[in-house]
Amino acid sequence: MPRAERGLLQLRRLKDLIARLSERVPLYREKLRAAGVTPGDIRSLADLARLPFTVKDDFRQTYPYGLLAVRMEEVIRVHASSGTTGKPTVVAYTRQDVDTWSEVMARTLMAGGVGRGDVVHNAYGYGLFTGGLGFHYGAERVGAAVVPMSGGFTDRQLMALRDLGATVLCCTPSYALHLAEAAEEAGLVRGLKLRVGFFGAEPWTEAMRGALETRLNIMALNIYGLSEVIGPGVSVECLERRGMHVAEDHFLPEIVDPRTLEPLPPGATGELVFTTLTKEAMPLLRYRTRDLTTLDAGPCRCGRTLVRIGRITGRTDDMLIIRGVNVYPSQIEHALLQVPDVEPHYLLVLRRDSTLDTLEVQVEARAAIAGAGRDALAALGTIVRRKIHEVVGLTADVSVVPPKTIERSLGKAKRVLDLRHGGS
Ligand code: ADP
Ligand code: ZN
Repeated sequence: MPRAERGLLQLRRLKDLIARLSERVPLYREKLRAAGVTPGDIRSLADLARLPFTVKDDFRQTYPYGLLAVRMEEVIRVHASSGTTGKPTVVAYTRQDVDTWSEVMARTLMAGGVGRGDVVHNAYGYGLFTGGLGFHYGAERVGAAVVPMSGGFTDRQLMALRDLGATVLCCTPSYALHLAEAAEEAGLVRGLKLRVGFFGAEPWTEAMRGALETRLNIMALNIYGLSEVIGPGVSVECLERRGMHVAEDHFLPEIVDPRTLEPLPPGATGELVFTTLTKEAMPLLRYRTRDLTTLDAGPCRCGRTLVRIGRITGRTDDMLIIRGVNVYPSQIEHALLQVPDVEPHYLLVLRRDSTLDTLEVQVEARAAIAGAGRDALAALGTIVRRKIHEVVGLTADVSVVPPKTIERSLGKAKRVLDLRHGGS
């Protein structure tokens, strides 16, 4: 769809959204009144900047159903966010919402060429988490055969991957790495038919992409979504793999300065904000995701005109400040992936010794060098420490630990253990 035409569609949908929200959701009626905006005030998409924001705390204040814009009888599904940063938020869907979600998930899978004849191994968690059912409905919509594995039971996953002839892998990147290792150990990789993987739900790096593509012999695509907005399906990379195209006929993105909340010019890094244009059950106005990235409205070689978001570099709330240096866990991952003899399984442990903050980076040695003796491991630790200093500008204590000693995630990896406040 040409951009001008889509702009008109978005504007029409935005006006309708404001009318629905001010009529049906007390919280928004109040927010809109406080902002002095009536539905008639919206004349162009630029008026978006006048509208009030929504934050995660609005969900908590109205828990569980206060943000519903339809009667409970219209709701056919409920999910919840994974609660990475606190109490989970509850989200609801009408039949139309589930249909929209399946449609955007179908687009996601089609971006990687998935369709009839494909076998989709879906290792995203089924349940309250949106990943499992989101991919499930999308895979059915494109006519692929879906294997509803959910997370965990790695041996069984390997057996299914091989025996059922999976061509598509869906899971978090950290779990994909775990599967790759297990497949290598079992000597299975060559027997797999995997062609493409859809990885997301947690931050990962270009270096991790390289590792997954080589080890599993696939094309690895980044996907981004969040349950408050709908779940996975909000955006996906095309085969050019230069940013994730946003399904902006349904989810209108903006980038704002996280401190001033002013919209930022194209290309600037800031907080990603979404307005849901078509959602019925829990529509959102300018939802602050707390994820940091950029927007690119320039043309893409794939021919899609949909705006692209860059790799998520972190959450505004997972930035660590260590002795005055701002550090995102993804920067440490980037550094670790440049050292060939360690695996990118890692844990960052923060402590406070008297007044100074310290960062310990635990990282696993590759199986091949694990038996090389203490001196070799200590030397490896020095290399890692130098690399982290070079990339992040911070001196960390590095512990190179034996293979398989850092807990594996089945879904989202837990990378940070912060013992600075209250912990010992
Ligand atoms: P929670 O906020 O509790 O983790 P969700 O399960 O809805 O809830 O997860 C959404 C969040 O996951 C996003 O806000 C973002 O921080 C993270 N995320 C999802 N996909 C990606 C991705 N491709 N890269 C980086 N982070 C991602
Ligand atoms: Zn593209």
